[in-house]
Amino acid sequence: MDSVASIEPADRCHTIDRCGVCQGRISLSIPSLESPATSWRCRGCDAAFFGSAQLRDGKPFSGGMRSVYYFDLMTGLVDGSRRPNTRLNRLEQCLAHAVHEGPESRANQRFAVVSRVHVTPLSSDMRLAGPPAEAVTMNVSVSGLAILSLKEIAEPYLAVDFSAATDSIKPVILKKLRSEVIGRGHRYAEEFLSRIEY
Ligand SMILES: [Zn+2]
Repeated sequence: MDSVASIEPADRCHTIDRCGVCQGRISLSIPSLESPATSWRCRGCDAAFFGSAQLRDGKPFSGGMRSVYYFDLMTGLVDGSRRPNTRLNRLEQCLAHAVHEGPESRANQRFAVVSRVHVTPLSSDMRLAGPPAEAVTMNVSVSGLAILSLKEIAEPYLAVDFSAATDSIKPVILKKLRSEVIGRGHRYAEEFLSRIEY
């Protein structure tokens, strides 16, 4: 059976058909606001992904992957030593009093929101490409979020976990629009791609 032929055409450019680590066949989709991400591991190599199941003949399909719990996935990745990040603390205090907004270039109004988060880089196939790192949000709009991180993040997507600050906001996936160096940090302007369900 040629199951690929039955993928709905609109979804075809968003499909993830190969694991970027073991090159095994997998079936996931790039998540969206309408099809939020859930957590997966490759059955071939255990690589972790945030993606949505493909739709085949109207039914969810996720070949080559096993569904895992978001918190199990993240707990295994977070640095357990929990050393206080003094450089980030200083940055956060500084930002809380003086968030530099710059000229308004987005269509939607931005609100300064300084909050501690964990950001995890995601490759173009939605694979977790590194451990979560501490970062701070700078501002938020209905379409996106600006984030300041001490780490340079080369990947095109970011998963953001707010649980260090609040339990009331679910994790989200952002798509990178722009980045710039600010002092010893990196500022990333990101647009919302999807939430992560758990
Ligand atoms: Zn794999």
